Amino acid sequence: MEVDENTRLLYLESMGIQAWQLRLQPPGMGAVDDGEAALSAVDGVPAIFALAVSAEKSDMPDATSAEGNIVDAHSPTDGGKNAAKVMMGWDELQALVASCTACPLHQTRTQTVFGVGNRSADWMVIGEAPGEQEDLQGEPFVGRAGLLLNEMLRSIGLAREQAFIANILKCRPPKNRDPQVDEASACEGHLKQQLALVKPKIILAVGRIAAQNLLKTTTPIGKLRGLVHDYQGVPLVVTYHPAYLLRSPLEKRRAFDDLRLALHTYRKTI
Ligand code: SF4
Repeated sequence: MEVDENTRLLYLESMGIQAWQLRLQPPGMGAVDDGEAALSAVDGVPAIFALAVSAEKSDMPDATSAEGNIVDAHSPTDGGKNAAKVMMGWDELQALVASCTACPLHQTRTQTVFGVGNRSADWMVIGEAPGEQEDLQGEPFVGRAGLLLNEMLRSIGLAREQAFIANILKCRPPKNRDPQVDEASACEGHLKQQLALVKPKIILAVGRIAAQNLLKTTTPIGKLRGLVHDYQGVPLVVTYHPAYLLRSPLEKRRAFDDLRLALHTYRKTI
């Protein structure tokens, strides 16, 4: 349900989350560039102009149809290791994930957390793994961290619904422990298939775990930020996880720099 701006701000305040506000260039100030954005300190974070991001791409196939996508498919138990090229659509992929037993996490999950959002999005946001609430609700990035992620996206003119949001793991690790290498490896086939279906123009890797697993590195997140990487041919920018930013609010300015880099990179691709 859509809420008005005041209600949204009050809701965020009650959750202890400060809004990352948009700031439009005042009339007569000349063209706004993302490198010279109008700055408005909100919670130490400069806000920038809205970006007109297309919610739908006309050249994309119908995301809900089963046609036209050749992807690596695997059985629920092989974890993608015996991948074969087959035609697979969203419904088939979602059913495959829901029944997946490729790693031990299927034994403790409440449900799989497939991913949400625009299935033809230009922006794909990839996080770590479901937490307790995500496991219960079946949706990634809910709760306070999810609200902050929404604000981060909003700061570059992107509504949550315009991006496709997923995790490297579709099942919750017990007690929210870090994903293990073999679990991430087992689940990567699902993510690659989502990527093949969405065909994003840019990936925002959210948090150390997501970034290191996607980029197959142990390099600290501080050294992965500020660069444009590549994942399966798609430019990838790394930023901090909103749960970390809730604990370390002084890092929000760096996260905003990451979002600006992602926005700049996205603009160059279109
Ligand atoms: Fe399958 Fe991924 Fe869940 Fe493991 S985490 S059981 S690979 S869906």
